[in-house]
Amino acid sequence: MIAGKRERVASVLGARPLRALPTWSGVLVLNYHRVGDASSGDGDRSLWSATADGFDAQLRHLARHADVIGPPDLGEALGSRRGRHVMLTFDDGYRDNHAIAYPLLRAHGLRATFFLATGFLDRPHAAWWDELAWMARHATTPPSDPEAATRTLTDRYKALPSEEAERFLDRVAEETGAGRRPAALAEREWMTWDMVRELRDGGMWLGGHTVSHPVLSSLDPSAQEREIGGCADRMAAELGEPMAWFSYPVGHRTAFTADTKRLLAARAVRAAFSFYGGHQPAGRWDPLDVPRVNVSPRCDARMLAAMLAFPQVLAGASA
Ligand SMILES: [Zn+2]
Repeated sequence: MIAGKRERVASVLGARPLRALPTWSGVLVLNYHRVGDASSGDGDRSLWSATADGFDAQLRHLARHADVIGPPDLGEALGSRRGRHVMLTFDDGYRDNHAIAYPLLRAHGLRATFFLATGFLDRPHAAWWDELAWMARHATTPPSDPEAATRTLTDRYKALPSEEAERFLDRVAEETGAGRRPAALAEREWMTWDMVRELRDGGMWLGGHTVSHPVLSSLDPSAQEREIGGCADRMAAELGEPMAWFSYPVGHRTAFTADTKRLLAARAVRAAFSFYGGHQPAGRWDPLDVPRVNVSPRCDARMLAAMLAFPQVLAGASA
């Protein structure tokens, strides 16, 4: 569902609840990437899920009106067929998760799960979507709408076979005249492992998100295993516990395969999260494909309330 349509539906539902919709039970998993001021960064601005104030308002609402759970509670929550639960998740490992989101979560007494692409923490460098956004914005002849150009470029990148991905970045660098994004810009972009341990010690859950954030379905099984196993090994080394939770990079239905799920099961991963929208109703569920819904800066407390009331209608694929 496109954002404008979702807002209109939320506004109608907020004003006049539809009695015909059955009440739901299960889990609505919200997904965030970055929190803070989008204009402060030079990367992909669509990654900002909320301003600090917007996130604060969402948490205030959730603390009062929702039963916020974590991944270890999923089995019980979905097995009971009673209750509406919410999970908060963050992908990638950006530093604002620690600097801005974490203190707000603590202030509201809420816990979230943070999924880490370990390569960004171990060797800070630009994520491909941030680099494409940077190149679009720094083109010799900048596009009239850099955000739209970035979306087109990232969509193209996601569809490439893995062996062509790096070459595509070089080609965009050359064709735009921007060159590759200076590596120094990424130095303070990602959390450090000390920050991650602080999250864990503060009650947050940590999960894996591969090493280098590829679209796993574009890789053969042995390369998928290197991404999943490499991530699990680094998390175990830094946190002293096995990787129990995972989220699929990009997360569309076509971004992971049966091989991906088999490899995660072999690593004893207890739940893996996709990203194509929807909520998880109670009853039968696939622990290796738990749906999540995107949160955008347009999602204020009122829209969040409507989404919690009617996820069947409002928990669409994109915001
Ligand atoms: Zn990601």
